[in-house]
Amino acid sequence: MLLPFILTAFLGATAALAAPQADDGNTTNLQPICATNANPHDIAVIEQVVENDKTTMKDLEDLELGDLSDEEEDEDVDDAAHYNPNHMCKKIYKKIRTIKIHWHNVAANNTREGGYLKKKVILKQVKYIQKIYKKACLRFYLKGVNHIYNADWFNNVAPGSPQEKALKTQYRHGDELTLNIYSVGLVSTPGLLGYSTFPWNFADDPHNDGIVIHYATVPGGDYPHYDEGAVAVHEVGHWVGLLHTFQGGCSQPGDFVSDTPAESTPAFGCPKYRNTCASTGSDPIHNFMDYTYDKCKTHLTKGQLWRLVKILKIFRKLIRHH
Ligand SMILES: [Zn+2]
Repeated sequence: MLLPFILTAFLGATAALAAPQADDGNTTNLQPICATNANPHDIAVIEQVVENDKTTMKDLEDLELGDLSDEEEDEDVDDAAHYNPNHMCKKIYKKIRTIKIHWHNVAANNTREGGYLKKKVILKQVKYIQKIYKKACLRFYLKGVNHIYNADWFNNVAPGSPQEKALKTQYRHGDELTLNIYSVGLVSTPGLLGYSTFPWNFADDPHNDGIVIHYATVPGGDYPHYDEGAVAVHEVGHWVGLLHTFQGGCSQPGDFVSDTPAESTPAFGCPKYRNTCASTGSDPIHNFMDYTYDKCKTHLTKGQLWRLVKILKIFRKLIRHH
């Protein structure tokens, strides 16, 4: 079979583009591995949210969210759909809604190289998303998986492409708190691993809402250095309203989160030490909202967890109203 060989060679080449200088921490010639970019409108929305922090905080205190990032790890769960909440989150779950996931597996054919993902793999990815965001007491439920065979969409779905519009118009399910994940080939945009919409985009363009990821980035995939599922966790970060940790470079307010030190540019690989801004703190290279390798990414900060819950409350109707 010639095709898998060509595809493998292609993936290797794109990964080299994605991380041109992996280890020195001073990456130049950057390739956009994530195409989610905050424009001035997005920044203005975040500014407003931050400004309204006081009133929002009051509501959240009522929710007893508590010390989110200090939550103890639960025992591992086999199936994200049957996540067993800890004691603190149980109380909160009465007040917040579950995030339903619809997974649209766009494939050129029914082979792994063609983008086909088994349900078992998809569940592993959902479980990883659940593991990270449960620290904000979010609960996800995999509602359904579509296997869609369409080589044109597999190759050419990309930010703003007609194929993306056709795919999402036909298949997007649910309301603002429904997470639609599209796994595709991103063949026409080498080096790109994924992208997402922001919560405040929903009102103007509900059909476009959701995240798009390269199929080989899921756990056990074969995208070099980005194959443990952290790409989807990163894109969900945007979907819940987080910006890149390098947003705004060294200038304040950066990503609008106080406990993620500023960094001048994205970090690649997994540098031992990196500090690109004079302000306090070394670069947050282990944060999911940076560009480092999957194995390097470990957490979201407490500030990010608070911010995302606030944003979901405002823009995605997270709070249940009886
Ligand atoms: Zn991103």
